[in-house]
Amino acid sequence: MAEGRGQDAMIETLHVEIGHGRPACSMDVLTIGAARIVRIPDIDRIEWPATALFGALTAEDLRAAAGAVPAGTVDAEAATLLLSFNSYLVQTPDFTALIDAGVGNGKERLDRPAWHRRAGPFLDLLDGLGVRPDAVDIVVNTHLHADHVGWNTVLGDAGWQPTFPRARYVAPRAEFDHWNRLQQAEPPAPVLHGAFADSVLPLRKAGCLDLVGPTFEIAPGLRFEPAAGHSPGMCVVRLTLDAASVLFTADVLHHPLQFARRDLVSNFCADAKMARDTRDRLLEENTGTGTILAPYHFPSPAFGRLVQDAAGLRFVPLPMSSAAA
Ligand SMILES: [Zn+2]
Repeated sequence: MAEGRGQDAMIETLHVEIGHGRPACSMDVLTIGAARIVRIPDIDRIEWPATALFGALTAEDLRAAAGAVPAGTVDAEAATLLLSFNSYLVQTPDFTALIDAGVGNGKERLDRPAWHRRAGPFLDLLDGLGVRPDAVDIVVNTHLHADHVGWNTVLGDAGWQPTFPRARYVAPRAEFDHWNRLQQAEPPAPVLHGAFADSVLPLRKAGCLDLVGPTFEIAPGLRFEPAAGHSPGMCVVRLTLDAASVLFTADVLHHPLQFARRDLVSNFCADAKMARDTRDRLLEENTGTGTILAPYHFPSPAFGRLVQDAAGLRFVPLPMSSAAA
């Protein structure tokens, strides 16, 4: 990837009215040639207790970090971090894909109040973009954690069924095998807060889940790359276009704070050392290359590039323009 490709890329902010008296939602749209990439937050800008995400953080750390991250993403007084849960829509002349699938609606998540029986506007937002469920060709799960697979399924007359009836769902085989072993364990216990049973196994039953290796070409220009550590088989997804490369980084990173504090790994990472090594490798590989990063949990502006200068490694968001729809 040569330096300079896609350098004129800008984010357009799209405000979509979803009706029913609910506030408008904002989505970030990145247009590169004939491709459109949209950040669709299933949950947007939620305050998360800082130590619930990074157990090692102290109050002093938070005060020090507040000046080194985008405004509003750390609240040192409240000891919270601002998070989003971003599914990404990718539309090219060849396919329409969703990268990761949020928390979903109506799922029983008793031990995760923010995820329990949600009634979010995700499908309305897709509709506002002109994308009906049967227009989605591919749904990619970077890994199978409950906050990445929710919109795989919706509740129908016969139980949980694929949300996107024509789609091929793609997930790393190592992820499925790991969680499936736990699902088979005796005595049975809810796996992934119940998400494996209500958001993954129904795809298996419907015959629409493809389990693949960690360096797999999902569609023309769309590839899995290995990124295990946060979870046993997690992959990141790279979209390669003529004018740019976009890397959907899944849970390699959770918060912009991790650029200032490279030692931090989340409490949800299965293997802390592997998660840190994977992150360091991916950051190194993609710094100064022009690659556009699309992190799963960053609030807007979530699209950005990695720049290394005298101040260290920084995440520089793409410039934004604003338009109403
Ligand atoms: Zn995760």
